[in-house]
Amino acid sequence: MKDLNENPAIAGYYFQKRWNIFFENYIKPVFKVTDYWWRYEWQHRGSSHIHGFLWMKDAPQIDDLDTQNPIDLQRFVDFWDKYVSTWHPNVNAPPAAIHPSAQLFATLNDTKLELAEMLNRFQRHRNCQPGYCERQNKTTGEKFCRFGFPKKCREQSEFARDANRDFAEFHSKRNDEILNSYNAGFILGWRANIDFCPVINKEAVIAYVEKYASKGETSSSTYEMTLQAAISRLKDTDAAGIAYQKMLSTFSSERDISGQETCHILLGCSLVETSRKYRNLSVSPNPQETLNFANSTIDRTGYLEQYKKQPATMENITLLEFMTHFDWKGTNYTRRGG
Ligand SMILES: [Zn+2]
Repeated sequence: MKDLNENPAIAGYYFQKRWNIFFENYIKPVFKVTDYWWRYEWQHRGSSHIHGFLWMKDAPQIDDLDTQNPIDLQRFVDFWDKYVSTWHPNVNAPPAAIHPSAQLFATLNDTKLELAEMLNRFQRHRNCQPGYCERQNKTTGEKFCRFGFPKKCREQSEFARDANRDFAEFHSKRNDEILNSYNAGFILGWRANIDFCPVINKEAVIAYVEKYASKGETSSSTYEMTLQAAISRLKDTDAAGIAYQKMLSTFSSERDISGQETCHILLGCSLVETSRKYRNLSVSPNPQETLNFANSTIDRTGYLEQYKKQPATMENITLLEFMTHFDWKGTNYTRRGG
């Protein structure tokens, strides 16, 4: 821990480099990933971790899943059974003595025993904690874990709704009440805690994104967002430099950033990585304000204004089509992809 705290630049850079290499060489081919989205996050003491989604080529389409149709459900269960496990190979194995991520490459065996030691070191939900996962039922006053631990053991994988859960979920067969779901290859390669499970409905994704993947604006807003917020509070006559001062004072009062996160940003690493590109469209009648770093001016032209300026030949193009397919340079508009 001392080494990590004293060398946040190495730790921060190493983490994203290791993940990118692991993703390209293992995750992407093995899970046949067609699309991805992930976000780096740091716990208060600075530990890097990732929240993300993977789209897998052969995964059953969740939109088409008929939860009343047993054949459909079985196909869904059979597919995910190959990728997700909650079966402990040896719950009595001692937890790995050295943290598995700190072991030297030449000492790795990738055996079932090593997997068991690893699961016992970091993949079991041993203690529910008040500020973390412990919640209280408002009516009964009963305390419960928001992740649903301890979970019911079962001999067969199934798609079912457990008593304390809001919706039906995929449950792989389970012989350990507190084991987090894992994929053996993923965890043997990554060598640290992972929680890996299929998405089962849109509501669950929205809840996940809102609760974990992009939680707390005050503790996860990017420099750009904070700077934009500072700009919106400027008067027209203020110099751009004042925006920086406001941004810095916002950080010192509203935001704590760990050394590793600071280094991740200073090293130019992205906070979010995705296989798709996004444009943010503001449909507010007030022009968008963006800071032009090159000449310290505030540009007021947004996508909406650009759309309104399109030539007469493009008047049948909708705003959505324009945003999705068009690029422009001055008054020269081009459709991407021919
Ligand atoms: Zn818990």
